[in-house]
Amino acid sequence: MLWLLGLAAEILTLMVLTGKIYTGDKQMMFMIIGIVVDAVAVIAGSQLWKHANRLDPASEANKVKFFLWNNLGLIAAIVCFIPMLILIFTNKDLDKKTKTIASVVAVVACLIAGVSSYDFNPVSQEDLAQAQQTAAQTTGGTVYWTTFGEKYHLDPNCSTIMNSATVYSGTVDEAFEANRTELCKVCEAKADVADDTAEADTDASSVAAAA
Ligand SMILES: [Zn+2]
Repeated sequence: MLWLLGLAAEILTLMVLTGKIYTGDKQMMFMIIGIVVDAVAVIAGSQLWKHANRLDPASEANKVKFFLWNNLGLIAAIVCFIPMLILIFTNKDLDKKTKTIASVVAVVACLIAGVSSYDFNPVSQEDLAQAQQTAAQTTGGTVYWTTFGEKYHLDPNCSTIMNSATVYSGTVDEAFEANRTELCKVCEAKADVADDTAEADTDASSVAAAA
């Protein structure tokens, strides 16, 4: 919905630009307001989109679909800005000053909207399932994270979070929702060792049982 608002802002800006909506000497002001509303709507929409994809990630079985799905915000940013940029650049009726300012504002807004819409760290259904399984096996499902960073931990006493003032705990779902989607390497290594030990124990007991 916010992306549609962005699109609407773009269209209104273009109507002001082409004179379909006559704004007299306030043309520049209206165009800049239009561009800013466009950018804010696209950025806000993309943040909600990324958040929704942490809560309920898409499957990465189809890589192309996975990429497009996660970066729908980037596509929205392109749709909401590129036509406008082209029309501003190619418009011959604008005076030089208006054109320069409008171009700069639009390019900057487009870049900000594009970068902030791109999902740099997409999470897949498979990632989430794997994370839940690992957590369930090692801690019974509870994970830990702190105020900053992108990692979550299996061990509340992990050396990397020992000095953090606040340590949050919750399920893997909650950690992902909090944008902590990466397992801490220290905790991962520890979990692997524990896993191997458990396997070794099972092997030993099956040998014992066989004997
Ligand atoms: Zn850790």
